[in-house]
Amino acid sequence: MVTIVIPQLESHTLKLFMKKSSSKNYPVVIDEEKLKAKLDPLSYSVLREAATEHPFTGKYTDEERSGVYRCNACSAELFTSKEKFHSGCGWPSFYAPKEDDAVELISDFTMGMKRTEVRCAACGSHLGHVFEGEGYEVPTDQRWCINSVSLDLELRD
Ligand SMILES: [Zn+2]
Repeated sequence: MVTIVIPQLESHTLKLFMKKSSSKNYPVVIDEEKLKAKLDPLSYSVLREAATEHPFTGKYTDEERSGVYRCNACSAELFTSKEKFHSGCGWPSFYAPKEDDAVELISDFTMGMKRTEVRCAACGSHLGHVFEGEGYEVPTDQRWCINSVSLDLELRD
């Protein structure tokens, strides 16, 4: 039997719900001034201006407690500790979101690379990027690389 492997083939799973650009209207409308007053400058610039926190600096990178990770802008439930794993990349890593429709995926061509940006589907805030096929031993072979400052962990058993 001959197995043909096409490494360039993009994942069907991710492609299914990936969009070329952001939808203009999100269910939750963010009041930018209020959010700016509530958050520290780094959190605001990651969430609303797609900045990235420095690797190995985020408070959730090595977090192992049980709970639900909410959007730090609108409190939507995005990820859980069940799908979190240690990737060693310097940012909190998950192998899947809590629900597929909790996040929005957008093709990102900045920084001279083709990447897939992850946003909160409720409010459109930037969370991080998702990578696939890197060989991590997780059920999806995906690494959802998410900024700590985009998240707010609610401890749950
Ligand atoms: Zn949100």
